[in-house]
Amino acid sequence: MVIDEITSTVLDIPLACPITMSFGEVSRQTTVLVRARCSDGVVGYGEADLLGGPHWGVESAESVKATIDRYIAPALIRQRFSGAEAISSALGKTIKGNAAARGSVEMALLDILGRRLGLPASTLFGGALRDRLPVAWTLSNGATALDIEDGERAIEERGHRQFKLKIGVARDPKCEYKRVGEICRAFEGRALITADINQGWDTITARKWLPAFADVGLHAIEQPLPAWDIDGMARIQALLDIPVVADEAITGLRTAQRVVQSKAAYAISLKPNRDGGMWTTRKIAAVAEASGIGLYGGTMIETSLGTAALAMLYSAVPQLALGTELFGPLRLAGDIAATPLVVRDGALDVPTGPGFGIELDMEQVRFFTRND
Ligand code: MG
Repeated sequence: MVIDEITSTVLDIPLACPITMSFGEVSRQTTVLVRARCSDGVVGYGEADLLGGPHWGVESAESVKATIDRYIAPALIRQRFSGAEAISSALGKTIKGNAAARGSVEMALLDILGRRLGLPASTLFGGALRDRLPVAWTLSNGATALDIEDGERAIEERGHRQFKLKIGVARDPKCEYKRVGEICRAFEGRALITADINQGWDTITARKWLPAFADVGLHAIEQPLPAWDIDGMARIQALLDIPVVADEAITGLRTAQRVVQSKAAYAISLKPNRDGGMWTTRKIAAVAEASGIGLYGGTMIETSLGTAALAMLYSAVPQLALGTELFGPLRLAGDIAATPLVVRDGALDVPTGPGFGIELDMEQVRFFTRND
């Protein structure tokens, strides 16, 4: 069985509400949908989600599509593939960096593998250990009253018990301290709050303010410093009783190992397309497991397809101390799955069908396809 075809399509999907992050407001998701076909006719899909593009990370939908079309597809066509390690190694050797481009192609090939075997892709990662995954909701309105209102609605309608609060937006840390305190008090005993700074602060600001943030009842603090400042994160983590969660600092297996060895974070956010693919993320989970580091199932706001893929991976990770943030389908104004995934009682049912268990609605795919 050889790979016959790999194609990529850029989709622009509006967000249900804009998200305010440390670098500004984002109102649409740009997703690269990857379709792969093998010589036995089995087709699989993967996706890369580039929320904020190069404002968040080092890739954009445009760079991912160009890398896939010009470099990855020609290298893999007519090649055999035998499994997750083989795909991951082949892509890692052929393409430097470009984690989301590699990750989305690997995802499509793993979908094929699962479909060919007639098994859910979780089997490829060791098998599902749980049927349902707890899902946090993100409070990203940038205004306290709106965030509290949004959180109340999320508890009432979908039973979330964990929130991710985006902070560090061009605002005085003192104002953020007040805001975090008000939100923690509003949901005390009902929901855990993690604040995500998305690299927005420097060491001096973080050292001055984060111990006070921990004192108002924050559960965890995500990526307070720039991705490169792993030593700075270690100094911050040493000051805090709550976990620092490493997100952008991790770019693959080796940076994950460095974060763990440096004691820069007591928790790691898993993100396959940040790490270069689902198989690498599974290995990162093992590094964390060996060191007693907590895991959080991260998101880049995937459609139901990407969410199903990540849910299958996260369901197979032995320890998931901080739950997940697989709320992607809830944040998008549209979806490409025939049956979008839903969150109820604060959790997502892990799909059970072959591959990622998702059938696409091709009319919706065409509707969101960028025409330029
Ligand atoms: Mg983050």
